[in-house]
Amino acid sequence: MPELPEVETIARGVDARVRGDRIAEAWFGSHREPFKTPAARQAKGLEGRVILAVHRIGKHIVCELGSPAGGGALDESVSKANAQWIVHLGMTGRLLVTTPDAPVASHTHARLRLESGREVRFVDARRFGRLEYRDLNQTKAFAGAGLEPLTVGPEEFAALFRGRKLAIKAALLNQGLLTGVGNIYADESLFRAEIRPRKAAGRLTRTELERLRVALVEVLEHAIRLGGSSVSDYVDAAGVRGFFQLEHCVYQRTGEPCRRCGAAIRKVIVGGRSTHYCAVCQW
Ligand SMILES: [Zn+2]
Repeated sequence: MPELPEVETIARGVDARVRGDRIAEAWFGSHREPFKTPAARQAKGLEGRVILAVHRIGKHIVCELGSPAGGGALDESVSKANAQWIVHLGMTGRLLVTTPDAPVASHTHARLRLESGREVRFVDARRFGRLEYRDLNQTKAFAGAGLEPLTVGPEEFAALFRGRKLAIKAALLNQGLLTGVGNIYADESLFRAEIRPRKAAGRLTRTELERLRVALVEVLEHAIRLGGSSVSDYVDAAGVRGFFQLEHCVYQRTGEPCRRCGAAIRKVIVGGRSTHYCAVCQW
């Protein structure tokens, strides 16, 4: 499943290719699962609108839409938007920018033909992804449930875990606390912060929590720089695979030597999820 760095990479790639373009025509497939808003309503809302900006909120890709005179910086575009197209990639979803003559992949559920001649396509084999359209005159703008891990401050971050008995690994995955952190980056940031994944969240010291916050930001930003992790079939907006998977320290390295101390990486289940750590480096 794409996590924050992958979604950020895709959102940036799509933004660079479609910002300022106008949606000339929208086509939606016949499978109903991907459409949180009925396909006909999405098509009607999207056609004729200008894409002011594309950005990430949590694990969602949000296209800010407006009237032809809009555009500018992201904050400006967000305030000018009068509609949003919200894409969740689910397990296998892909949002691609292509030319109209590119072969249409099977499992293509949406195609937006743009005035520039480009085309935005949503492809999803397993159909856990979701497409939603919001008219901001009728509904409020999309907002993630939890705090944004790249910008949360030390005080707010520490407050999220205060008094919590659940394992820190499980707390990191709780989307109501932090939005967009999944299994790979939870394991990698706990390794970097030298914290055992099963330690109760509320028992972490202030120093440990700050180490964890910084580690999480570093791991996520490093992964974004490398274009995300290509596990299963993730590719970015141009169909290019990411490279962060080559730099995983613990994730899916069970039995392999720790890059720091050489001890075998262990795998345990925490909160129902596979969790990888080094018993020597993490406490
Ligand atoms: Zn180690």
